[in-house]
Amino acid sequence: MIRIGNGYDIHRLVRDRPLILGGVNIPHELGLLGHSDADVLTHAVMDAMLGALSLGDIGHYFPPTDPQWAGADSLKLLAQVNQLIHAKGWKIGNLDSVIVAERPKLKPHLQPMRDRLATVLNIPADQIGIKATTNEKLGPTGREEGIAAYAVVLLVKEEGELGK
Ligand code: MG
Repeated sequence: MIRIGNGYDIHRLVRDRPLILGGVNIPHELGLLGHSDADVLTHAVMDAMLGALSLGDIGHYFPPTDPQWAGADSLKLLAQVNQLIHAKGWKIGNLDSVIVAERPKLKPHLQPMRDRLATVLNIPADQIGIKATTNEKLGPTGREEGIAAYAVVLLVKEEGELGK
């Protein structure tokens, strides 16, 4: 009656793009490149939710080749994934995540991110963990070539949905 899923994503840092993480627009001279708004944290969370039910990944539901997702607000996609897991009789028990970014300092933005995700997922913010770490200047994230995110999600069967 419980399922676990994990998700990972990375996007390239470039000039002239907004930096959006967990639905929060963060002031920075670089932003994330992607077909949608490139919200790497939200993408990792969605992949973890889908993975928990063996439903594939977000590329399957929102293919980057499809123009309707160009510049998409990833929180809207997250709401759709949440609907999908509820339709299958599951809800989020808790989720935990890590953002790997050398800069900017993300600590002041973590609580607003939790609040945004909590609102979209319709769960209390205390069921959402968001942590940030640097990569000690190592690798592509450490060289500020990109920002990565990891997420794990625990799903629990909704009451009255047993056997669905
Ligand atoms: Mg992505």
